[in-house]
Parts: sequence; C-alpha cells; structure tokens
Amino acid sequence: TAASPTTMEDCCVKVAVHIRPLIGDEKLQACKDCVAVVPGKPQVQLGTHSFTFDHVYGSTGTPSSAMFEECVSPLVDGLFQGYNATVLAYGQTGSGKTYTMGSGCKDGAQTGLIPQAMSALFNKIESLKHQIEFQLHVSFIEILKEEVRDLLDPNSSNKSESPNGQNGKVNIPGKPPIQIRETSNGVITLAGSTECGVQTLKEMADCLEHGSLSRATGSTNMNNQSSRSHAIFTITVEQIRKVDLAGSERAKRTGSDGMRFKEGVHINKGLLALGNVISALGDEKKRKEGAHVPYRDSKLTRLLQDSLGGNSRTVMIACVSPADINAEETLNTLKYANRAR
Ligand code: ADP
Ligand code: MG
Repeated sequence: TAASPTTMEDCCVKVAVHIRPLIGDEKLQACKDCVAVVPGKPQVQLGTHSFTFDHVYGSTGTPSSAMFEECVSPLVDGLFQGYNATVLAYGQTGSGKTYTMGSGCKDGAQTGLIPQAMSALFNKIESLKHQIEFQLHVSFIEILKEEVRDLLDPNSSNKSESPNGQNGKVNIPGKPPIQIRETSNGVITLAGSTECGVQTLKEMADCLEHGSLSRATGSTNMNNQSSRSHAIFTITVEQIRKVDLAGSERAKRTGSDGMRFKEGVHINKGLLALGNVISALGDEKKRKEGAHVPYRDSKLTRLLQDSLGGNSRTVMIACVSPADINAEETLNTLKYANRAR
C-alpha cells in the first residue's frame, strides 16, 4: 500500500472554482451575471451564499495560464518525486469542463489544462533525460452508466457510421469488457483498456485528440450522452534510473469531465459516490481514525481510489456558468465542491 500522507499538503484535495464568461446562448436570453468574486479573495458569492475555496478563477481578469501554474504545475513536478496526481473537473453540462481541461475537439484544445500539463511534463523529461529513462503510456476511457468504454480502442473508435445507425460504437465479439482490478500492492488498474506507448508530445496529444473525437462521435449518436459520462485520461510515467535500474513508477491522472449534478430523479452514482469519498477524505479527524472511505460505491471512485487517497495530490475544479438561469445548478456545484474542503 502507498505510504500514508504525512502533511495536509500531501493529502488534501484542493478545490478551485472556474467561472466561465456568459456564452452566446445566455447572452441571447439576456441573462444576468449572478456569480460574484470577492476582489483579492478566493471567495464566491451567489445570492446570500458565500463560499471560500483554494482558488477562484473569474470570467474576467485571470490569464488562462494562472490556473495551470497554481493548480496543476505543482502536481506535474510532484510526479517526479513520486506523487500521483489527479485533476478533476466537475460541473453541470455546459459549465466549461471540457473547455477547462482542454479535452474538447475544438476550443480550449491548446490552452486547456491537459495540453499544458503535457508540455510541462515533456519539458521536465527533457531536462532529466540524461540521468533517467522515461517510459510513457496513456489511456483514455469513459464511464457511462457504470460501464467502462475504451476511447483509444483502435477497433472501435471513430467508426462514426455504424451500419445500424446506432451509436458509433462497435463491439468486437469476444473482446472482454474492461475490468477494474487492484494489484497486490494496492494499485488500481484497468484490465483490457488500451495503453498507448508514446514517445513525443505530439504522439501524446494525438491520443488525447483521438479519444476526444471518439467520445464526441459516440455522443452525437447516443442522444448526447457525453453529458452523462465521465472521461478519464491517464498518463503513466515510468522512471528508470540509468544507474541502478531500480524502477519506480508514478501515474498521473488527468480526469476530465463530470456531469450534471442531478438528472431528473436519477442521481449519478459516480458523482454521488465521489462526493462521499471526497468528504470522507476531507475530514481529517475521521481519516486519522481510519474511517471507511466508500471507494467501492461506483466505478468512478474505484478508478480514482489511488489518486484520491494515499500518496497523491488532487485538484478539483468546479466549473460554473455565471448566468442567472443556471443559479440553482451553480449553487449545487458550489455546495458539492465545498464538501471537499
Ligand atoms: P461542459 O464540458 O461542462 O459541458 P463545455 O466545456 O463544452 O462544457 O463548454 C460549454 C460552452 O461554453 C462551449 O461552447 C465552450 O466553448 C464555452 N466555454 C466554456 N468555458 C469557456 C471559457 N472559459 N471561455 C469562453 N468560452 C467558454
Ligand atoms: Mg464536456
């Protein structure tokens, strides 16, 4: 099992809020901006409610690089010291998760957090490559209704026109479903998902783009179910010291996209479980007493188990729309994110 974290710095889930600007549709409906940022403080006000987070990125005034520098860059550095890292975007459909992460096919694709993390990773590797040999793999999966779908599967991705016009996903007969497994040393792995070996930034970026396309393709034909799916892009970094060949390996997870907090009466299992896991972890007293953390309640939390607990650093970015028509969902998101602190 991973060494237990010794300081708050090592274990805490940090929470940031990203408020996007009003977008076209909201402007057309003459929406008012209802989310206020307290100047100079990481504090958000919505009506009579006020919340404080680790960081708040408002719709104006913050350069897009600030979020990366403050929230993600330290996590990339931590990988080389042996810390797992997770970046998680959460929020209602249309709140800017895909944009923030940069896992979309169009906008945000260059400036999003994942592309920035990838270049920082390669810069660091470049500076260390004389002492250390690196092996990099990526995987990209999506969880939809508690089923895991491989977004990098060469046999099923991008076949947008399936013959029966259904969902663009081709199931290969005899291909076993992807399973979540825990190895004897407590590392969570996905059995059966594609692990693409990559050597360059370009190859890694291609994997991200490829998987994003596969997700988007699935979603158009599946009645826009991307709004109900969780996508997890994982980068695994293996460092092999050129001197003693004693290997050590770290994984970095860049999770992208949550979903609506509520869908009619159906509450997403993964997000409910994630909220419970995050508040159990956030409760330092309970954690010290070894209280139960309900990882096994959903596939999402199971997969994020070694990223959220143990030897890892996590940033959760709550994405919100500033529009008054979304005030209720925004309040839900802020309350959910607030549980993590
Ligand atoms: P989600 O993934 O949460 O459903 P998206 O990332 O797809 O939401 O964003 C919804 C829309 O809002 C997109 O058209 C996107 O371009 C726009 N958008 C999101 N965040 C921003 C931002 N920070 N600045 C400008 N436009 C944004
Ligand atoms: Mg999205």
